[in-house]
Amino acid sequence: MRPIYLDYHATSPVDERVWQAMMPYWREMFGNPASRGHSYGWEAQAAVELAREQVAASLNTTPERIIFTSGATEANNLAIKGVAAALYGHGRHILTVQTEHRAVLEPCAYLESLGFRVTYLPVAADGLVDVEHLRAALQPDTILVSVMAANNEIGVYQPLAAIGAVCRERGILFHTDAAQAVGKIPLDLQALPIDLLSLTAHKIGGPKGVGALFVRQSVPLVPQLHGGGQEQGWRAGTLAVPLVVGLGAALTLAMAEREREQARLLALRTHLWQELQKLEDVLLNGAWSPRLAGNLNVTFLGVNGAELHRQLQPVVAVSSGSACSTGQPSHVLRALGRSAAQAASSVRFGLGRGTTEAEIQQVVNHLQEILPGLRQKSYIKT
Ligand SMILES: *Cc1c(COP(=O)(O)O)cnc(C)c1O
Repeated sequence: MRPIYLDYHATSPVDERVWQAMMPYWREMFGNPASRGHSYGWEAQAAVELAREQVAASLNTTPERIIFTSGATEANNLAIKGVAAALYGHGRHILTVQTEHRAVLEPCAYLESLGFRVTYLPVAADGLVDVEHLRAALQPDTILVSVMAANNEIGVYQPLAAIGAVCRERGILFHTDAAQAVGKIPLDLQALPIDLLSLTAHKIGGPKGVGALFVRQSVPLVPQLHGGGQEQGWRAGTLAVPLVVGLGAALTLAMAEREREQARLLALRTHLWQELQKLEDVLLNGAWSPRLAGNLNVTFLGVNGAELHRQLQPVVAVSSGSACSTGQPSHVLRALGRSAAQAASSVRFGLGRGTTEAEIQQVVNHLQEILPGLRQKSYIKT
């Protein structure tokens, strides 16, 4: 039997209904949406534009503000490097947060190598950004603030409205990486002062390899891929039509089922946390609220992290941190003040559409079984 999958922050399976929606676009309707002279192109273009409307509707914005990309990594790169290139003459300072995904941290580090200055704002012990600290860290030549919507390791979501308001006040652009948040928490771009927003399909039952960037009107942005002028010149390259269709379908489904599904996951997550607390010496990482319903991240004190994960792996697929930083102690947990050893003996539980009550119970049973042995083996409490 394959292990129970509780790693939904890393990726999710394509939903059966999304798969069905994508199917015709691999073979029958294979046209290039940029072919303007025949019906093969028209039908592909129609599918892309429907998906664009679906993505826009889910964020309460208009379709021409949506640029399709290969995922959230590319969207983040376009947003951060694109703004930096456009505003090069106006300022050289960027503000982001220590607990961001590497798809934000690495473009920022690259810009530092080009002469930009980047502030990596610390977070409080609960993982949340203090808006007054953020305000105080702004500089006269800050051009961009990038703060993620929901954290991919600890699930906490940041005060986007308050951060955006500070940025507006100061005339600074505000980008958010919403890869973990879209389809899970409401994101209304008419109401929220967000200038750029990145998203991806594969965290919400869509295919890997497609995402989008929302760009508010008149935000200066330099394209990072040059070529055939697709996506209004913002992102060259032939669109992956089946994947784009999958993104639109996945987001539409996630929005339609959002409230019910999040309530279901919250109940499962709450039960899991109640059971884990009975094991004693278990710490919660990140605020309990506001937090994604499907996320629980805990540190098991007094156990060897590598051994813990070795014994979990046959029964449950979880991670000790981000899927993208294997081997290193999680920079997110370190930013919360956890030691390297504590970070290693932490477990990120990511619950999703396929998760059942029975599965949660099996995971609890397995932990009850292995933890006493793991604790006996360690001499010191870390
Ligand atoms: C998954 C994830 C990404 C990367 O998205 P891809 O579409 O896989 O490139 C970026 N940021 C966050 C917060 C994520 O969870």
